[in-house]
Amino acid sequence: MDLSTENKMKNSKLTYIIYTIIVILLFGCLIALGHLSKFQEFITKIEQNSFDLRQNLIVKYKTPNKDIIILAVDDATYEYIMDKYGSWPISRQIWSDVTNSIEKANPKYIIFDMLFVKPNLFDKEADKNFINTIKNNKNIYLSMNFDNYSDEIRKSKNLDDKLKLNIKQGNLKDNPYITFSNCRTIMDELIQATKNIGIINVTRDNDGIIRNTTPVFKYKKNYYPNLSLAVAMDILKQNSISFINNKIILDKNHIIPLDSTQRAILNWYGKNATFKHIPFWQAIKANKENNTEYFKNTFENKIIYIGTTATSLSDIKSVPTESNLAGVELHATFLNNILDNDFIKKVPAKIDFVISVLLSFFVGYIVLKTSSVPKTIAFLIATLILYAVTSTYIMAKWNIWISVVIPYISIIATFILIYCEKYLMKSKDYEQTYKLAVTDGLTQLYNHRYFQEQMINQVNNFERYGNVFSLILIDIDFFKKFNDTYGHQSGDCVLKQVANILKKNSRTSDIACRYGGEEMAIILTNTNKEEAIITAEKICTAVRNNKFILTNNEKVNVTISVGVATIKQNGTKPQEIIEYSDKCLYKAKESGRNQVVHEI
Ligand code: GH3
Ligand code: MG
Ligand code: MG
Repeated sequence: MDLSTENKMKNSKLTYIIYTIIVILLFGCLIALGHLSKFQEFITKIEQNSFDLRQNLIVKYKTPNKDIIILAVDDATYEYIMDKYGSWPISRQIWSDVTNSIEKANPKYIIFDMLFVKPNLFDKEADKNFINTIKNNKNIYLSMNFDNYSDEIRKSKNLDDKLKLNIKQGNLKDNPYITFSNCRTIMDELIQATKNIGIINVTRDNDGIIRNTTPVFKYKKNYYPNLSLAVAMDILKQNSISFINNKIILDKNHIIPLDSTQRAILNWYGKNATFKHIPFWQAIKANKENNTEYFKNTFENKIIYIGTTATSLSDIKSVPTESNLAGVELHATFLNNILDNDFIKKVPAKIDFVISVLLSFFVGYIVLKTSSVPKTIAFLIATLILYAVTSTYIMAKWNIWISVVIPYISIIATFILIYCEKYLMKSKDYEQTYKLAVTDGLTQLYNHRYFQEQMINQVNNFERYGNVFSLILIDIDFFKKFNDTYGHQSGDCVLKQVANILKKNSRTSDIACRYGGEEMAIILTNTNKEEAIITAEKICTAVRNNKFILTNNEKVNVTISVGVATIKQNGTKPQEIIEYSDKCLYKAKESGRNQVVHEI
């Protein structure tokens, strides 16, 4: 193996070590940044936006459960009620009458996404009828909510034990998303009439968008089910749930995965009117007209959510796919997600991290291996696009949410870092090549070509700025004889040692060169004749006094002859100065060698 192949191998090994260190450092930085809450918030926000984008892209391929419909108290219903009855809210008598008519059509469930908070003091009869309707039909579900306010109406109250959720296995951790200190109770009589009461609180992410639903709520040490969880337990004939490994298990086919905030990430089915909406005024009208056919055709075997969709009544929520979605749609979506096992599962941070590391190594490797800049950039863009498409496909196909932002940041950061590193290595390579091109291999002094270039440079400098410089020419005395006596190898040895003496006795701004054979030269920048003579004498003495060690360890003395020339005094062109110092050198030889000459 020749020296250059060996060097190349060493270099590529070094490159990979540096590359690995960079990637590891990069992840160290990312982890450190991850602990800065501002940065974390920023990442979360972009990741959530990317989730919304993916949900919007795949929503048109999803179909909601056709058995779930919404009986909507819409804007038209509000106008209808005001027109026909002249008062708001809707009388309990109307609720009771319409509910009884729906019941005759054998619906699966009637679920009220409404709060019947306090009794109607002016119509006790209507209240009684409504309570009886609830009492007589076990498929009706009512809503209640919790909060942390301390208004009189929300005064803390012990809830009936029968509303509690029966948890068979596992423990829920205390969590601000599920824990409440007050409840907005519904009428005591309603609590007495039924145990079918669920909680309808919603929780928003920091940006105000609802992506998650809380399935289980904590109030005064007890747990209560979300309205749709309660209905789902009824449908699946489960009177208890298990909470294991951040999952709520209803039965082996119905599992609700929870995120780190113990909420379930909802999967959306469509834009705005996801489930079929029936305006409530139609039901009131059909009831008045005793139109049993209408009730049968509309409600038979349906799971009916009754809720407000009127924009004027403002039960409006922002979700990833829609900025104005009726709250009741949210609860219907949650039930649909449970029944179809359709929740979004967020991949654990550990797996996101592994994906990021693998992708970064891959991208880094390709950047290292590819020399064309446009190709590398095209590859980076292709990787980013492919990853975005893959993550969307994974969400559409398996309901899995893999992070996009952290892998993107690490891929781009790796790309930039490896690129910089590559650039640095290249310039280092160039430096090395340049150094080789201007250096003499034996003495490590500058070579003849560099000497000629520098002479031109120095003359130019003198012409432009008046910077004076001097030239010292050195020739070893009787070197032919030396070679004959001690051998060429020992001659080389002496050349190296003379070169070292030159370097030691000149300044860093001086340029020591091998002029040819056993002749050397030093260009002394910003140096006048007097100073140059001093340096020349110093070098001549240093060589004279040095013991040169030969290859056989023998020590011998060597002398040199030196000629000195300075710009302006001895010429104004490179050739004139070289010639003058050469003549001085010749004179030194003539005058007995081992001396410095500066005049001819
Ligand atoms: P002087 O300069 O004192 O007049 O006598 P000299 O014998 O040194 O004569 P000259 O300078 O003309 O001789 C140059 C000799 O230097 C010829 C050659 O044998 C020797 N020489 C030139 N380059 C090298 C080299 O790279 N290595 C060795 N060992 N000798 C070299
Ligand atoms: Mg010579
Ligand atoms: Mg000589």
